[in-house]
Amino acid sequence: MYMDNRDLRIGIIGQLFYDEVLNQSVPRQLQLLDDFFPGLLVQEIPAEPGRKKTNAQYSDADRMILAARYKSGYYTGSSTRVIQILGRLIGTAKGSVEKERRTAGMIQDRAAGDLCTRPDLMQALRDSWSVRFYEMSEETLDRFVDIFSDYINGCVAKWKGMSADERDQELFPFREEVFLDLMNALIFEWNQGFTDSLANAFTWLILGALLRNEVSRLIYVYNTDFEPRREHPIHEGMEAYYEGDDLDKRFPGIEWYCDRCGAHLNEQAGFDDFCHIWKCTACGFRNTIEVEEIYDSDEDYQAGRPTDKNMLYRALRERADQLEAAGQGPGEEEPVPETGEESGL
Ligand SMILES: [Zn+2]
Repeated sequence: MYMDNRDLRIGIIGQLFYDEVLNQSVPRQLQLLDDFFPGLLVQEIPAEPGRKKTNAQYSDADRMILAARYKSGYYTGSSTRVIQILGRLIGTAKGSVEKERRTAGMIQDRAAGDLCTRPDLMQALRDSWSVRFYEMSEETLDRFVDIFSDYINGCVAKWKGMSADERDQELFPFREEVFLDLMNALIFEWNQGFTDSLANAFTWLILGALLRNEVSRLIYVYNTDFEPRREHPIHEGMEAYYEGDDLDKRFPGIEWYCDRCGAHLNEQAGFDDFCHIWKCTACGFRNTIEVEEIYDSDEDYQAGRPTDKNMLYRALRERADQLEAAGQGPGEEEPVPETGEESGL
């Protein structure tokens, strides 16, 4: 295995949790994801009748993996696409492998959005871990704390020792402030030592491993105990809407310009807003493509006042709901409007 056991990855956490804490065999990837994040990533579909098992598939519209459940849990089967996506979500795939990284990024984006906008969903995920920790024997819980204290310290130590280039090489590279904010929230809860705070800490840990930079959205809307933050209310009554239909982008409707030469990055060959850093093809400057770099106007840019993330995400969420209500999921083609206006009649 080439994974470093000090990497913040679901694959490593699953190995430690099942193999070393529970002394159980580690579930297969798809089942592991659903064990860790019940209902968030995998949606059950009925098994087709017959002797052959039903292959899992990826739904572009729902940004979920659809799978049939058998005795041993969710079944992946032979879909190369699902296998590629799982490798990226779990972290067993190498950093430079591009195939389906973008799809995994879309799942991260969708899952973070769901958890941001639905505190009930967020807290149910955390509660599922509280329940597990309460059910553990004292001995198992002690082992859990020992093993994961080492792991968390190892993750922080390794990350601090990496150069900027090494960090960029990772699959879904963390931005420095996201990693540090995540670890601060996690360690704050961990150090309290209550069973509930361990559940909070572990939930941050697995969310960081799964969502990577997208976890910043959760840090922004929730306190460390997953209560919604009061100091960042969503601005009720203020206008926040989006009318485009390019929701398969990470930042729909956002135009990116090079911070050094001002070139329009969206139109540069190969530009994809799922990349976290884009090297300007005109001047070579490495531009950060993240929500913190989005400004509503040039005036805001000059003043160093980024857009309100909550407003942006809410607008996108509402647009996704609108499109879904209109019968077209994200990513589908918009029907050609049947007005006569453009026909010259
Ligand atoms: Zn440039």
